[in-house]
Amino acid sequence: MSVKIPNRIILPEDKVPQQWYNLRADMVNKPAPLLSPATGEALKAEELTPVFCEELVKQELDDTTPYIDIPEEVQEYYRTFRPAPLHRAYRLEQALDTPARIYFKFEGNNTSGSHKLNSAVAQAYFAKKQGLKGLTTETGAGQWGTALAMACTHFGLPLTVYMVKGSYLQKPYRRSVIQTFGAEIIASPSDTTNAGRGILAKRPGTTGSLGCAISEAVEKAVTTEGYKYVLGSVLNQVLLHQSVIGLEAKEAMELVDEYPDVVVGCAGGGSNLGGLIAPFMQDKLLGRANPRIVAVEPASCPSLTRGRFVYDFCDTAQITPLAKMYTLGCGFIPGANHAGGLRFHGMSPLLSQLYHDGLMEAISREQTNVFAAAALFSKAEGILPAPESAHAIRGAIDEALACKESGEAKVILFGLTGTGYFDMSAYEQYLGGTMTDEIPTDEELRSFEG
Ligand SMILES: *Cc1c(COP(=O)(O)O)cnc(C)c1O
Repeated sequence: MSVKIPNRIILPEDKVPQQWYNLRADMVNKPAPLLSPATGEALKAEELTPVFCEELVKQELDDTTPYIDIPEEVQEYYRTFRPAPLHRAYRLEQALDTPARIYFKFEGNNTSGSHKLNSAVAQAYFAKKQGLKGLTTETGAGQWGTALAMACTHFGLPLTVYMVKGSYLQKPYRRSVIQTFGAEIIASPSDTTNAGRGILAKRPGTTGSLGCAISEAVEKAVTTEGYKYVLGSVLNQVLLHQSVIGLEAKEAMELVDEYPDVVVGCAGGGSNLGGLIAPFMQDKLLGRANPRIVAVEPASCPSLTRGRFVYDFCDTAQITPLAKMYTLGCGFIPGANHAGGLRFHGMSPLLSQLYHDGLMEAISREQTNVFAAAALFSKAEGILPAPESAHAIRGAIDEALACKESGEAKVILFGLTGTGYFDMSAYEQYLGGTMTDEIPTDEELRSFEG
C-alpha cells in the first residue's frame, strides 16, 4: 500500500541548514567577475569594501568554497521562521486535471512576506559584526525593504531605504510596515542625492526604477560615515544565502521519495531562483540527475529572453561596478507592471552564465496571464500569492497542462516566493478587467542598449 504524501512536508527545526551551498564552486564556467568602470579590470576586495561589508565581499568573490558555515546568530534567527514548508499542491493538480505531481516551496510564511529575509538576516548580521553605524538599500515592491528593516531592528542597526516611487505611491501600507520596523524610507528618485536630483531633472514625472534607487542608496552609503550599502538580489552573496530554500526543498522531497523533473521559479534579479535551484543544479553539474530548470520573467521586463549577455551597470546613474549579465540596458525603465520585484533591467551574473551555457531555460509571460494563474492558485490552494511569485505559478501550471496533453506524470517543483496582501490594487485591476499588458517593442529595447 502506498502512503499518501502529506499536504505539507515540514522539516523539524534542527534541519535548518547549518551551511550555505555555493553553487559557483561546482560551475565549470564561473560567473564573470565584476569590473571597475574606471579601469576595466576585475574588482578586488579592497575596491569593494568601501561600499560593502568585509565578510560579504569575501563571499562575493569566493568561487571555490562549496559550503560556507552559517553563523550561529543567523541560524538562530532562521529558526524563528524556518524550515519553510514544502507543499504538495493536490487541489491545484485536481483543478488542472493533470497527472503531474506539483510541489511548491512556500517562502512567504514570515512577516516580510517573502524569501528576502533569508539574505537580509545574514547581511544585517555581518554589518553589525563589523561595527557599522547603519545601512542603506533600495526596495522595489517593498519586500526587501521590509525584510531588511526586520533584520536591522533585530541586530540594532539604523537603516535608510530608497523605495521606487511608483511602489511608494501604490503601496502605502508596505511603507508603514517598513517604518514600523524602525527604518527611514525615502521615495526614489529623491532630492537627497546627486543621482536622484540628476534623474529628476531629466525625467521630472518618472515613477522611478530599481536601477535609479540603487544609485541613490549607494551614493548615500559612501557619503555617510560608518554606513555601507546592501543589495537584496543579483549578487553572488545573495544567491548564496538563498541556497537555504533549495537545500530544504531537496531534503523535504527526499523524505517523501520524490525528485523534481522540472524546477520552476520567477526571476527578477535571480536570488530566489538561484537559491531554489542550487542543489538541483549541483546534481546536474555533477551528472547525478538532469532536472529541467525554468526561469519565468515578465514580458514587460524580459532580461533573459530578450536581453543581451554583456557587461552593463547595475544602476541607472552608472556609479556601480559593471556586471556581465543578460541586460536590457541600465537606462531601461519597464512599463507598468505590478510585479515590482521583477522590474530590474539585468539578471544575476551567476544565472546569466548558467542560461548562456544552456543549463537553464527561460520564458516570459504577460501580466494578465500571470494574474489568471494567481487567481486559479488562490482558489485551489488558499494562499494569495505575490505578483512576482505568480510568474512561477504560471510557469508551473503551463508545465502541468503540458503533462495533461502528453499524459506524463512529471514531478514539478516551483518556488512560491511570497504573499500578495500589499498588492490588492493589482488584483483589483485584474478582477475589474482594467489590467493591461505592456510589452516593449524591439525598437524600444534597442533604444536602451548601451
Ligand atoms: C524580490 C522578489 C522576487 C524577485 O527577486 P529575485 O531576486 O529574482 O528572487 C520574487 N518574489 C518575491 C515575493 C520578491 O519579493
